[in-house]
Amino acid sequence: MNIKKKHLAKMLSQLDRFEKPKANLEQYVTPGDVASELLWMAYSSNNIEKKTVADLGCGTGVMTIGSALLGARVVYGVEIDIKALETARRNIKKAGVEKSRRIILMHEDVKDFNKKVDTVIMNPPFGCQQEHADRIFLSKSFEIGENVFSIHLSKPEVREFIENLSKKNNFSTSYRDTKKFDLPAQFFFHKKKLDKIDVDLYWFKRVP
Ligand code: SAH
Repeated sequence: MNIKKKHLAKMLSQLDRFEKPKANLEQYVTPGDVASELLWMAYSSNNIEKKTVADLGCGTGVMTIGSALLGARVVYGVEIDIKALETARRNIKKAGVEKSRRIILMHEDVKDFNKKVDTVIMNPPFGCQQEHADRIFLSKSFEIGENVFSIHLSKPEVREFIENLSKKNNFSTSYRDTKKFDLPAQFFFHKKKLDKIDVDLYWFKRVP
Protein backbone atom coordinates (compact mmCIF):
# COMPACT_ATOMS: atom_id res chain seq x y z
CA MET A 1 0.00 0.00 0.00
CA ASN A 2 1.72 3.20 -1.04
CA ILE A 3 -0.57 5.74 0.60
CA LYS A 4 1.10 7.68 3.41
CA LYS A 5 -0.39 8.59 6.76
CA LYS A 6 -0.24 12.33 6.03
CA HIS A 7 -1.79 11.89 2.61
CA LEU A 8 -4.57 9.80 4.11
CA ALA A 9 -5.24 12.54 6.70
CA LYS A 10 -5.51 15.15 3.99
CA MET A 11 -7.81 13.07 1.81
CA LEU A 12 -10.13 12.27 4.69
CA SER A 13 -10.29 15.89 5.79
CA GLN A 14 -11.54 16.89 2.33
CA LEU A 15 -14.60 14.64 2.38
CA ASP A 16 -18.09 16.11 2.62
CA ARG A 17 -19.37 16.61 6.16
CA PHE A 18 -22.78 16.19 7.82
CA GLU A 19 -25.19 18.60 6.15
CA LYS A 20 -27.30 19.23 9.22
CA PRO A 21 -25.56 17.50 12.10
CA LYS A 22 -27.99 15.97 14.59
CA ALA A 23 -27.00 16.70 18.16
CA ASN A 24 -28.94 13.78 19.65
CA LEU A 25 -26.93 11.36 17.47
CA GLU A 26 -23.69 13.19 18.29
CA GLN A 27 -22.82 13.71 14.67
CA TYR A 28 -19.35 15.16 14.44
CA VAL A 29 -16.92 14.13 11.78
CA THR A 30 -13.59 12.74 12.92
CA PRO A 31 -10.91 15.22 11.85
CA GLY A 32 -8.64 13.79 9.15
CA ASP A 33 -5.52 13.74 11.29
CA VAL A 34 -7.21 11.89 14.17
CA ALA A 35 -8.93 9.42 11.82
CA SER A 36 -5.70 8.65 10.03
CA GLU A 37 -3.92 8.18 13.37
CA LEU A 38 -6.46 5.53 14.42
CA LEU A 39 -6.49 3.91 10.99
CA TRP A 40 -2.72 3.75 11.03
CA MET A 41 -2.71 2.10 14.41
CA ALA A 42 -4.92 -0.62 12.93
CA TYR A 43 -3.13 -0.82 9.60
CA SER A 44 0.40 -1.06 11.01
CA SER A 45 -0.64 -3.84 13.38
CA ASN A 46 -1.95 -5.84 10.39
CA ASN A 47 -5.58 -5.37 11.24
CA ILE A 48 -6.86 -3.75 8.04
CA GLU A 49 -5.22 -5.07 4.91
CA LYS A 50 -7.14 -8.10 3.59
CA LYS A 51 -9.33 -8.03 6.70
CA THR A 52 -13.06 -7.75 7.23
CA VAL A 53 -13.75 -4.45 8.94
CA ALA A 54 -16.83 -2.86 10.54
CA ASP A 55 -17.22 0.89 11.06
CA LEU A 56 -20.02 1.29 13.61
CA GLY A 57 -21.79 4.65 13.30
CA CYS A 58 -19.96 5.35 10.05
CA GLY A 59 -21.54 8.80 9.57
CA THR A 60 -20.17 10.38 6.42
CA GLY A 61 -17.84 7.45 5.90
CA VAL A 62 -14.46 8.67 7.14
CA MET A 63 -13.27 5.41 8.75
CA THR A 64 -15.03 3.27 6.14
CA ILE A 65 -13.25 5.02 3.28
CA GLY A 66 -9.94 5.06 5.13
CA SER A 67 -10.17 1.30 5.72
CA ALA A 68 -10.95 0.68 2.04
CA LEU A 69 -8.01 2.84 0.98
CA LEU A 70 -5.75 0.82 3.27
CA GLY A 71 -6.76 -2.44 1.61
CA ALA A 72 -9.56 -3.94 3.66
CA ARG A 73 -11.20 -6.95 1.99
CA VAL A 74 -14.71 -5.93 3.03
CA VAL A 75 -15.89 -2.90 5.02
CA TYR A 76 -19.32 -2.66 6.61
CA GLY A 77 -20.39 0.91 7.32
CA VAL A 78 -23.28 0.80 9.80
CA GLU A 79 -25.31 3.96 10.35
CA ILE A 80 -28.76 4.78 11.71
CA ASP A 81 -29.17 8.09 9.86
CA ILE A 82 -30.09 7.81 6.19
CA LYS A 83 -28.97 11.38 5.45
CA ALA A 84 -25.48 10.64 6.73
CA LEU A 85 -25.40 7.50 4.58
CA GLU A 86 -26.25 9.55 1.49
CA THR A 87 -23.23 11.73 2.20
CA ALA A 88 -21.12 8.62 2.83
CA ARG A 89 -22.17 7.26 -0.55
CA ARG A 90 -21.12 10.49 -2.22
CA ASN A 91 -17.81 10.48 -0.37
CA ILE A 92 -17.09 6.92 -1.43
CA LYS A 93 -17.36 8.05 -5.06
CA LYS A 94 -15.34 11.17 -4.37
CA ALA A 95 -12.54 9.07 -2.85
CA GLY A 96 -12.67 6.68 -5.82
CA VAL A 97 -13.12 3.55 -3.73
CA GLU A 98 -16.56 2.51 -4.97
CA LYS A 99 -15.30 -0.07 -7.43
CA SER A 100 -11.95 -1.24 -6.18
CA ARG A 101 -13.07 -2.47 -2.77
CA ARG A 102 -16.14 -4.00 -1.26
CA ILE A 103 -17.87 -1.40 0.86
CA ILE A 104 -21.25 -2.36 2.22
CA LEU A 105 -23.29 0.45 3.76
CA MET A 106 -26.01 -0.70 6.13
CA HIS A 107 -28.85 1.47 7.34
CA GLU A 108 -29.43 0.10 10.82
CA ASP A 109 -28.91 0.54 14.52
CA VAL A 110 -25.54 -0.85 15.59
CA LYS A 111 -27.27 -2.97 18.18
CA ASP A 112 -28.92 -4.95 15.35
CA PHE A 113 -25.69 -5.51 13.40
CA ASN A 114 -24.55 -9.08 13.84
CA LYS A 115 -21.77 -9.90 11.39
CA LYS A 116 -18.52 -11.27 12.75
CA VAL A 117 -15.52 -9.26 11.60
CA ASP A 118 -11.77 -9.25 12.13
CA THR A 119 -11.61 -5.58 13.05
CA VAL A 120 -13.91 -2.85 14.31
CA ILE A 121 -12.74 0.69 13.68
CA MET A 122 -15.02 3.45 14.87
CA ASN A 123 -15.58 6.83 16.36
CA PRO A 124 -18.80 6.30 18.32
CA PRO A 125 -20.88 8.96 20.08
CA PHE A 126 -18.97 10.09 23.15
CA GLY A 127 -22.04 9.79 25.33
CA CYS A 128 -22.25 13.54 25.95
CA GLN A 129 -25.89 13.76 24.90
CA GLN A 130 -27.13 10.37 25.94
CA GLU A 131 -25.23 8.91 28.81
CA HIS A 132 -23.29 5.79 27.85
CA ALA A 133 -24.30 5.95 24.20
CA ASP A 134 -20.78 4.62 23.70
CA ARG A 135 -21.60 1.50 25.72
CA ILE A 136 -23.82 0.04 22.95
CA PHE A 137 -21.02 0.55 20.44
CA LEU A 138 -18.31 -0.97 22.61
CA SER A 139 -20.42 -3.93 23.72
CA LYS A 140 -21.32 -4.66 20.10
CA SER A 141 -17.67 -4.37 19.03
CA PHE A 142 -16.56 -6.84 21.69
CA GLU A 143 -19.27 -9.21 20.48
CA ILE A 144 -18.39 -9.14 16.76
CA GLY A 145 -14.69 -8.27 16.49
CA GLU A 146 -11.26 -9.63 17.41
CA ASN A 147 -9.50 -6.26 17.43
CA VAL A 148 -11.28 -3.00 18.18
CA PHE A 149 -9.97 0.51 17.45
CA SER A 150 -12.02 3.29 18.93
CA ILE A 151 -12.06 6.93 20.06
CA HIS A 152 -13.39 8.17 23.41
CA LEU A 153 -13.25 11.22 25.62
CA SER A 154 -10.02 11.48 27.54
CA LYS A 155 -11.37 11.72 31.08
CA PRO A 156 -10.53 9.60 34.13
CA GLU A 157 -14.13 8.44 34.64
CA VAL A 158 -14.49 7.50 30.95
CA ARG A 159 -11.20 5.59 31.05
CA GLU A 160 -12.33 3.68 34.10
CA PHE A 161 -15.67 2.81 32.54
CA ILE A 162 -14.01 1.67 29.32
CA GLU A 163 -11.29 -0.39 30.98
CA ASN A 164 -13.89 -2.16 33.10
CA LEU A 165 -16.20 -2.84 30.18
CA SER A 166 -13.40 -4.23 28.03
CA LYS A 167 -12.13 -6.48 30.83
CA LYS A 168 -15.62 -7.79 31.46
CA ASN A 169 -15.82 -8.70 27.79
CA ASN A 170 -12.45 -10.42 27.83
CA PHE A 171 -10.58 -7.72 25.92
CA SER A 172 -7.32 -6.10 26.93
CA THR A 173 -6.17 -2.60 26.08
CA SER A 174 -3.16 -3.04 23.80
CA TYR A 175 -2.50 0.61 23.23
CA ARG A 176 -3.84 4.03 24.08
CA ASP A 177 -2.82 7.43 22.78
CA THR A 178 -4.21 10.90 23.49
CA LYS A 179 -4.90 13.40 20.69
CA LYS A 180 -6.61 16.75 20.18
CA PHE A 181 -9.98 16.67 18.45
CA ASP A 182 -11.71 19.70 16.87
CA LEU A 183 -15.27 19.69 18.04
CA PRO A 184 -17.94 22.01 16.69
CA ALA A 185 -19.23 23.80 19.76
CA GLN A 186 -22.91 23.83 18.81
CA PHE A 187 -23.48 20.52 20.56
CA PHE A 188 -22.04 21.57 23.83
CA PHE A 189 -23.41 25.08 24.02
CA HIS A 190 -20.01 26.67 24.28
CA LYS A 191 -19.41 30.21 23.20
CA LYS A 192 -16.44 29.49 20.99
CA LYS A 193 -17.19 28.25 17.46
CA LEU A 194 -14.73 25.41 17.71
CA ASP A 195 -13.30 23.67 20.70
CA LYS A 196 -10.34 21.36 20.96
CA ILE A 197 -10.91 18.47 23.29
CA ASP A 198 -8.64 15.59 24.33
CA VAL A 199 -9.62 12.18 23.09
CA ASP A 200 -8.11 8.75 23.69
CA LEU A 201 -7.47 6.44 20.76
CA TYR A 202 -7.68 2.83 21.86
CA TRP A 203 -6.70 -0.56 20.53
CA PHE A 204 -8.49 -3.42 22.31
CA LYS A 205 -7.57 -7.01 21.65
CA ARG A 206 -9.53 -10.15 22.47
CA VAL A 207 -7.72 -12.17 25.12
CA PRO A 208 -7.19 -15.69 23.77
N1 SAH B 1 -17.75 7.59 12.52
C1 SAH B 1 -18.03 8.86 11.89
C2 SAH B 1 -19.14 9.63 12.59
C3 SAH B 1 -18.97 9.84 14.07
S1 SAH B 1 -20.38 10.60 14.80
C4 SAH B 1 -16.75 9.65 11.80
O1 SAH B 1 -15.76 9.13 12.30
O2 SAH B 1 -16.71 10.74 11.27
C5 SAH B 1 -21.29 9.20 15.42
C6 SAH B 1 -22.17 8.55 14.37
O3 SAH B 1 -22.90 7.48 14.98
C7 SAH B 1 -23.21 9.48 13.78
O4 SAH B 1 -23.16 9.44 12.38
C8 SAH B 1 -24.56 8.94 14.30
O5 SAH B 1 -25.62 9.17 13.41
C9 SAH B 1 -24.24 7.48 14.46
N2 SAH B 1 -25.09 6.78 15.44
C10 SAH B 1 -25.47 7.20 16.66
N3 SAH B 1 -26.21 6.26 17.29
C11 SAH B 1 -26.28 5.20 16.43
C12 SAH B 1 -26.87 3.90 16.50
N4 SAH B 1 -27.52 3.51 17.59
N5 SAH B 1 -26.74 3.06 15.45
C13 SAH B 1 -26.06 3.45 14.33
N6 SAH B 1 -25.48 4.67 14.20
C14 SAH B 1 -25.58 5.52 15.23
